[in-house]
Amino acid sequence: MNHPRIGHGYDLHRLEPDLPLIIGGVKLEYDRGCAAHSDGDVVYHAVTDAILGALGQDDIGQLFPDNDPKYKDADSHIFVKEAVNRMNDANYTLGNIDITVILERPKLSPHKPTIKQNLANLLTCDTSQINIKGKTHERVDALGENRAIACHVVVLLNHG
Ligand code: MG
Repeated sequence: MNHPRIGHGYDLHRLEPDLPLIIGGVKLEYDRGCAAHSDGDVVYHAVTDAILGALGQDDIGQLFPDNDPKYKDADSHIFVKEAVNRMNDANYTLGNIDITVILERPKLSPHKPTIKQNLANLLTCDTSQINIKGKTHERVDALGENRAIACHVVVLLNHG
């Protein structure tokens, strides 16, 4: 496999009161957070699955089972790092990555530069290779009612 490869990642977590809200490695000040076995970072989880998907490998749930005590409250950067290690082992580099976070509140825009920088550090790439968008769900369904946060990621990997 020596041609570019595309990958898609998706994740969703319930929002519940009095839990930490961590998005793209940034802890947001908010009265609700993501219910999860790990720290519930939807961006890092979807990025991990997008890279693994591009490589045609297992998914995050297979690599890091959510019933394994080792990953209880885990900082999700370890999942991204594992995906990046696998990308390097397969001799692929990041082309670009496009991220859409769906959340009703709080506002994502003030945190975008920090999230981009966190990802650039993890993916060892330039921030110009990373795009991140925040969208509301127009008050429709669980996402729009602020009961969940979701994230879609598309990534392109280049060989060599
Ligand atoms: Mg997740």
